[in-house]
Amino acid sequence: MTKDYSPDRLDVKAFVQAGAHLKGHDSLLKYERLVQEAHGIHPDLHVDWQVQGELRAAEGPAPEAWMHLTVQATQPLLCQRCLTPVDVPLEVDRWFRFVADEATAEALDDDAEEDLLAISREFDLHALIEDELLMALPVVARHEECPVVVPMVSSSEDFDAAEAEKPNPFAALTGFKGDKSGS
Ligand SMILES: [Zn+2]
Repeated sequence: MTKDYSPDRLDVKAFVQAGAHLKGHDSLLKYERLVQEAHGIHPDLHVDWQVQGELRAAEGPAPEAWMHLTVQATQPLLCQRCLTPVDVPLEVDRWFRFVADEATAEALDDDAEEDLLAISREFDLHALIEDELLMALPVVARHEECPVVVPMVSSSEDFDAAEAEKPNPFAALTGFKGDKSGS
């Protein structure tokens, strides 16, 4: 009998013991904390994710519960060079090991290379995916090549006016030459 796993309330033990696999193709709009960080959000942004449960033989009496998470997403951020939105691709590829509870996870965390999580029958996979994506956000976002469009169109007229007021460098040069020849 196949079991349906809920990504919002995942029974981790059952999922891992079954070596089960789960994947999703979510709208970015479903991830509220990512939406808060977004600039220029549009509806065709998605979060694609896959999780695989794996039971591993361990030194202790009980096997270890592991989960492999991969995520591909696109996050619109503000380009720090041209100040227009830039779609930044995000990738997550991590292994997690589930331990008995939060206290055990905290106690072992410093020594473990992998990320430790407390096992749960109602594990919120979406919260984990969102946590990982938030950590994957770049500190500074930039286009590889900024669009040529001038971001603040209203200022271009002022710019032209400023250019017009400046004396023509060739006119100045002519005047200078004139003075020279006059002396
Ligand atoms: Zn840019």
